[in-house]
Amino acid sequence: MKKNIIVIGSGFGGLGAASRLLSAGHDVTIIEKRDKLGGRAYVYEKNGFKFDGGPTVITAPFMFDDIFEAAGKKREDYFKLVPCNPFYRIFDDEGNGFDYNSDHDFILSEIRKRNPDDVEGYEKFIKTTKPIFEKGFIELADKPFLKFTDMLKVAPDLIKLKSHQSVYKYVSKFIDDEFLRRTFSFHPLLVGGNPFDTTSIYSMIHYLEREWGVHYALGGTGAIVKSLEKLIREQGGKIHTETEVDEILVKNGKAVGVQLKDGEKLDADIVVSNADVAFTYKNLINPKHRKKYTDRKIERTKYSMSLFVIYFGTKKRYTDTNLAHHNIILGKRYKGLLSDIFHDKKLADDFSLYLHMPTITDPSMAPEGHEAFYVLSPVPHLDSNTDWNEMAPIYKDKIMNFLEDNYLPGLKENLVAEHYIDPLHFQNELNSYKGSAFSVEPLLTQSAWFRPHNKSEDVDSLYFVGAGTHPGAGLPGVLSSSIIAQDLIGKA
Ligand SMILES: Cc1cc2nc3c(=O)[nH]c(=O)nc-3n(C[C@H](O)[C@H](O)[C@H](O)COP(=O)(O)OP(=O)(O)OC[C@H]3O[C@@H](n4cnc5c(N)ncnc54)[C@H](O)[C@@H]3O)c2cc1C
Repeated sequence: MKKNIIVIGSGFGGLGAASRLLSAGHDVTIIEKRDKLGGRAYVYEKNGFKFDGGPTVITAPFMFDDIFEAAGKKREDYFKLVPCNPFYRIFDDEGNGFDYNSDHDFILSEIRKRNPDDVEGYEKFIKTTKPIFEKGFIELADKPFLKFTDMLKVAPDLIKLKSHQSVYKYVSKFIDDEFLRRTFSFHPLLVGGNPFDTTSIYSMIHYLEREWGVHYALGGTGAIVKSLEKLIREQGGKIHTETEVDEILVKNGKAVGVQLKDGEKLDADIVVSNADVAFTYKNLINPKHRKKYTDRKIERTKYSMSLFVIYFGTKKRYTDTNLAHHNIILGKRYKGLLSDIFHDKKLADDFSLYLHMPTITDPSMAPEGHEAFYVLSPVPHLDSNTDWNEMAPIYKDKIMNFLEDNYLPGLKENLVAEHYIDPLHFQNELNSYKGSAFSVEPLLTQSAWFRPHNKSEDVDSLYFVGAGTHPGAGLPGVLSSSIIAQDLIGKA
C-alpha cells in the first residue's frame, strides 16, 4: 500500500532512502534542519572556493548507480566519477610517502621499498580479505539484523573469520613493518573506529578499495548531493530545508508524524529518521515511549571520535609539492594517540592528519590559479570536556603551522579562505550525540544485531538510516542502511 513517509535529515542515508522509497511507489517528504542537503557532506562556499565538508573518498560507486537505476535513470547522466591514482599517499613521521592503488604489482613494489620481507605477508593478507568482504559486505551489510537468531546464524562465520580480533592485530599477523601495519590498518578510522578495537571485518575496506577503486565526483561530493536532490525532485519527492523536527509523534506505540520546531504537525504513515540515532531516541521521542532506548542505554553506548576540520584555500597552487589528492600524514605515535582519542578522551598535543587536495584532480573547486584543501584531525568527542570555544583557534594554528613547516611552504601568506568545524559543530549543527563524527562506535559488541536496529524496537512504523544504525558509518554503510529500510518498508 502506498505510504506517506517523512524522512528526517538529508545525509546520504536519508537521500538514498528517500529516492529508493519513491522508486518503490511511496510519497516521500524530506525534512532537513540545515539550509542545504547533504548532512556531513554539506558544501561550504567561500571566496570562490567550494569545500566538500565531509566525505571525499568515494568507494563502491555501484551503490550510487543502483539508486539511479531503481528510479529508471542512469547515474552517468547526473554526475561523473573519475578514479583517483594513487588512492592515498601515506606519509610517515619523517615525511616519506607510500602510495597504493589497485595495481597489485605496484603495491608490492612500494612494499618492497619499505620492507621486502613483507611482500609475501601482504600477498597472504590480501587473499584473506576476499572471504571477509564476501561475508562482511555482500552477506551482512544490506541485511537487517532485527532478531537475535539473525546474529546466531552468522556467528560461526564471524568466529571463523577471526572477527573478534582487531584490524591492527589481524594485519600484524601478516606484516612486520610498523609503518606498513599502520598503512593497511588505518581504514576503521574512515568509519569512526580505532584500528586497535574495531573488528577485523573492517579489513574488507582495503579489499573494497582495490576491487572497485577510489573515486572522486567531478564538482566534488557536493555534485552527488545535488544530483540526488534533482533525482528526488524528479521522482516527485518533497524537500523542506531550514525545517527542524522537534518531536516524533507517537500514538498507541506507533509513529504517526512529526512536530516541527515552529509547532506545526505533519502526519505520516511511516517516519524514517536519518538524524543521529542516539539524538533521535533521546531528543525526539518522549521517554514514555522508550522501553529499550532509555537515556541510560544511550549514555552507556560507546560513540566514535569527533573531528577537527579546517577548510582552506590558497592564492597559489601547490602542485610542485609531494602531495596527492588524498594524503594521510601519520605522526610518531599511533596506538598511544588513538588511545588518547578513543579511551582516555584526551586532546593530545600531537596529531595524525588527513589532507585533502581536490584541485589536483578538479581545478573547478577553486578560482583559477588557486588551490583548495581540507585538513582533518581525529579528536576525542565531547566527553573530553575540552572547551572548544577557547581551544579551536589554538588547535587550528597548531595544525596550520605544522602544514606550513612540513608540507605547504608559505601557507599563511598565501591563505585567502578559511573555515573550520570542531566537535561542537557536530553536536550543535548536526545534532550528533556527544559531538561524535561517526555516531555509534563500530565495535563487534555494537555491530549487526547489537547495533541500533533499522526498524525501531520501541516505536512501530519508525525506521532508521545512517551512520548510527546497521551496518554503520561511511557512504557504503549508510547507503546500505537505505536499502535495508526500503526492503523492510516494502513496495506501494
Ligand atoms: C569530515 C568527514 C569526512 C568523511 N569522509 C568520508 C569519506 O571520505 N568517505 C566515506 O565513505 N565516508 C566519509 N565520512 C563518513 C560519512 O560522511 C558519514 O558516515 C555519512 O555521510 C553520514 O551520513 P548519514 O546518512 O548518517 O547522515 P548525516 O550526514 O549525519 O546527516 C544527517 C542529517 O540529519 C539532519 N538532522 C538532524 N537532526 C534533525 C532534525 N531534528 N530535523 C531535521 N533534520 C535533522 C542533519 O542536519 C543532517 O543533515 C566522513 C565524515 C566526516 C564527518
